[in-house]
Amino acid sequence: MKRICVFSGSSKGALDDYARTAASLGRELARRGIGVVYGAASIGLMGSVADAALEEGGEVIGVIPEALMMDEVVHTGLTDLKVVASMHERKALMARLSDGFIALPGGYGTLEELAEMITWLQLRIHAKPCGVLNVRDYYGHLIRFLDHAVDHGFLKQKHRDKLLIADTVDGVLDALTRFHLP
Ligand code: AMP
Repeated sequence: MKRICVFSGSSKGALDDYARTAASLGRELARRGIGVVYGAASIGLMGSVADAALEEGGEVIGVIPEALMMDEVVHTGLTDLKVVASMHERKALMARLSDGFIALPGGYGTLEELAEMITWLQLRIHAKPCGVLNVRDYYGHLIRFLDHAVDHGFLKQKHRDKLLIADTVDGVLDALTRFHLP
């Protein structure tokens, strides 16, 4: 794997473990020689991942829509910053640049990005692994909801199983590395 796209909160969250784990993911990606692709912000868990990967000498590519550039939260020390016209272009470019996707804890933005990438995998628009780093069981409710969706006939078990879930950095990276579409 050359690059992994990390989706994560633009907030730090309520527990220190979230930012600690985000930094540890950034560091481990750099140590494994895997570049980070992400939303280019300097704030929240997004900033924690990027700072840690950069400190460890890793490649970090930020992709941001022009409209969000006004926000003054854009990370100024990235390996590369790609400015695109819209949120749609951003996600398409993030997907193109990356060999897999990991969601850390986050809100609507993170959920929307993860949902689109796992939907594209289900539809075979791409064949890249999608993982969730379930820090402190932050995603426990979502995971139970997905099982509920299977029980109620809206999600096939084989598609439910495409979402890789791990509670450690090594666990999620190893799951992504091992992944292949049947
Ligand atoms: P959220 O989980 O709602 O905090 O949103 C985080 C996700 O949405 C990130 O993965 C980003 O790609 C995107 N995002 C949200 N806010 C920003 C921001 N201020 N600057 C850049 N990207 C953002």
